Amino acid sequence: MADMLARRRALLGPNVSLFYEEPVHIVRGEDVWLWDADGKRYLDCYNNVPHVGHCNPRVVDAICKQAATLNTHTRYLHDGILDYAERLTAKMPESLSTLLLTCTGSEANDVAMRMAEGMTGKRGIIATDATYHGNTALVSQLSRSNIPEVGFGLGGYIRHIPAPDSYRSPDPDGAAFAASLQTAIDDLNASGHGFAALVICPYFVNEGFPDLPKGWLDEAARIVRAAGGLLIADEVQPGFGRIGSHFWGFERQGITPDIVTLGKPMANGHPVGGVVTRPEIMARFREAFRYFNTFGGNPVSCAAALAVLDELEEKALPDHAARVGAYAQERLSALHQKHEAIGDIRGEGMLFGAELVTDRSTKEPATALTTKVFNTMRQRGFLMSSLGRAKNTLKIRPPMPFAQEHAEMLFDTLDEVLTQLAPS
Ligand code: PMP
Repeated sequence: MADMLARRRALLGPNVSLFYEEPVHIVRGEDVWLWDADGKRYLDCYNNVPHVGHCNPRVVDAICKQAATLNTHTRYLHDGILDYAERLTAKMPESLSTLLLTCTGSEANDVAMRMAEGMTGKRGIIATDATYHGNTALVSQLSRSNIPEVGFGLGGYIRHIPAPDSYRSPDPDGAAFAASLQTAIDDLNASGHGFAALVICPYFVNEGFPDLPKGWLDEAARIVRAAGGLLIADEVQPGFGRIGSHFWGFERQGITPDIVTLGKPMANGHPVGGVVTRPEIMARFREAFRYFNTFGGNPVSCAAALAVLDELEEKALPDHAARVGAYAQERLSALHQKHEAIGDIRGEGMLFGAELVTDRSTKEPATALTTKVFNTMRQRGFLMSSLGRAKNTLKIRPPMPFAQEHAEMLFDTLDEVLTQLAPS
């Protein structure tokens, strides 16, 4: 382990992101399980990339068959991308009928932001102040925590507005959020940049997935349209059925975005991202930017992505997520009643967690405790992490086949760990 860490530092440089005080060296995965180099087994309660399960046989088979037949860059005719585009857009509102494939979610958001500029002739982009949307020079400006110390820095055309926080500053109908959005739009207009788009995850996952009722984004969406801007929904986290009740996070909110961006779970670990939008937005972008992506939408990527949709549909995994998610909420409620350290519980479907606090009355974030909890869970064979502004929300986001029996093991152990680390 020490040797590997030294090699990483020497070969990859410092500051390369790695989980846990004692990092995990994973060598094999199957369904919801992972094994490390010493043969220790972990229940994967964290990873959304292997959406339909680690090494899912249908996806592996689709990749192998296509790789053994043909893989090329994307300037030849191929059925795979057309079949996938038809299947994917069939899952979206009718107006969102065109697809552009990339290799990452970052690229997808980069394209979406440029689409918005192409359509509006304006550059101003608004995001929340506790989000992450990716790592390109353009997109990294949306993440306050990732703004580089040097280089492009923060363009004058980006505005951040306070992320919703249903626990600390309830905004039951989204009026405060809509008001800060309007202020940011006015500011962009006054600055001369103008307003191109609001970029949000419709479930605000990286913000700590606050509890927001359906319709919460209605007024924000109305303001975006009234200002002549576009609404970009980043579905990298909630999309593809994760939240159970709806295939997309924006559907749960009851809004129709102008552009939807996709990534992580899309091809079960094969690097695929995408942008779905209306034909006129796609046409304007294709004409204005002459975009070409060597790997985005190659035959193997499309085969993998199609297999994910097949697996989700045939196994009705979104329904499964809703059922297991309901059980998880019951168990979280019980833990909330028992452990003072749990200030609030969150989520639905296969995305759930709890916000840990040092004191329920002050709601002071228990960041250090949260870090201790997920590191202790890792020692006990359960992989999870934390997120939110103060990194004090336990983030549990397992592969979709995660079943009730797995949730039972997870919550039994979490109960023990909380009792040990934060006795009430
Ligand atoms: N959008 C969101 C909401 C994300 O959480 C992430 C990655 N965590 C991205 C975009 C970027 O995706 P990628 O790492 O594939 O570029």
